[in-house]
Amino acid sequence: MELEGKVSLVTGASRGMGRAIALKLSSLGSKIAVNYVAIEADNKADADNVVETIVRLGGEAMPVEADVRYGDAVKAMVDEITTKWGKIDILVNNAGITRDTLLLRMSEEAWDDVINTNLRGAYLCTKFVLRFMIRQRWGRIINIASIAGLIGNVGQTNYAASKGGLIAFTKSVAREVGSRNITANAVAPGFIKTQMTEKLPEEIKKSILSMSSLRRFGEPEEVAELVAFLASNRAGYITGQVISIDGGI
Ligand code: NAP
Repeated sequence: MELEGKVSLVTGASRGMGRAIALKLSSLGSKIAVNYVAIEADNKADADNVVETIVRLGGEAMPVEADVRYGDAVKAMVDEITTKWGKIDILVNNAGITRDTLLLRMSEEAWDDVINTNLRGAYLCTKFVLRFMIRQRWGRIINIASIAGLIGNVGQTNYAASKGGLIAFTKSVAREVGSRNITANAVAPGFIKTQMTEKLPEEIKKSILSMSSLRRFGEPEEVAELVAFLASNRAGYITGQVISIDGGI
C-alpha cells in the first residue's frame, strides 16, 4: 500500500489505459478521481463502472466529469476533487484521441482536436493541479505520450506532434518544479490493446506485430505498472524522462 493517503487524478479513466492505471493506483492505496468526458452517453456509465469496481475492491474513488480541452471545466474538476479530498498528489495526463489521416487530407479541425485534447489538455490539468503540489512540496506528474511522439508515424502528423509536444512539455515542467520535490515524466507506449488500437486495419496490426521484438501488443495493465512505479517514492530521483514501453519496437 505504498500510495496510502495519496490522491490521484487520472484523466480519461473511463476505459482503456486510464482505467487500468486508476485500478492499479487504487490497489496501492491511493484515492482516485476518475475523469471522463460526457461526449457520448455511455461514457458516464463507464466511469461509474470504474468507480464501483474500485469501491468493491475496498478502495475510494469519485467520478469527475470534465472535457480537458477547456480551462473552466478543468478548474471546476480540480476544485471538486480538492474540496472533497483537500489535495491532489498524483496527476496522470492520460486523456487522448486520434484523428488519423495523411497530412494533405488533414482538416484544421482534425489537427486542432488532437492538439487540444492531447497537449492543451495536459497543460490545463497540470497548471491547475500544480498549485496544490507546490504547496505540499510533493507531487508526481505522469504524462502518457506515445512512440509516435518519438519516431513519428504515417497518417499521424497531428497525433505525433501532440505527443512530441507533450514530451517537451514534460521536460520543461520537470525543470520548473523540481526544486519543489515534484517529478514530471512521460511514458511512451507502443501499441497497447485498447479501443484506440482495436479500430486499426488488420494489415497495419500485422506490420506493427512484425516490428515488435516481443511479437505482441501490450496490455493496459503493463503500462499501469510503469505508471505506478513512477508515482511511488521508489522513483523519487527520476524526473524529466521519457520511458518507452513498446515491446521492443
Ligand atoms: P481510449 O481507450 O480511446 O481511451 C481514451 C480516453 O481518453 C477515454 O477515457 C476518453 O474518455 C478520454 N478522453 C478523450 N477525449 C477527452 C477529453 N476531451 N476530456 C477528457 N477525457 C477525454 O485510448 P487508450 O488507448 O486507453 O489511450 C490512453 C492514452 O494512451 C492516450 O493519451 C493515447 O494517446 C495514449 N496511447 C495509447 C496507445 C495505444 O496503443 N492504445 C499507444 C500510445 C499512447 P471517454 O471514454 O469519456 O470518451
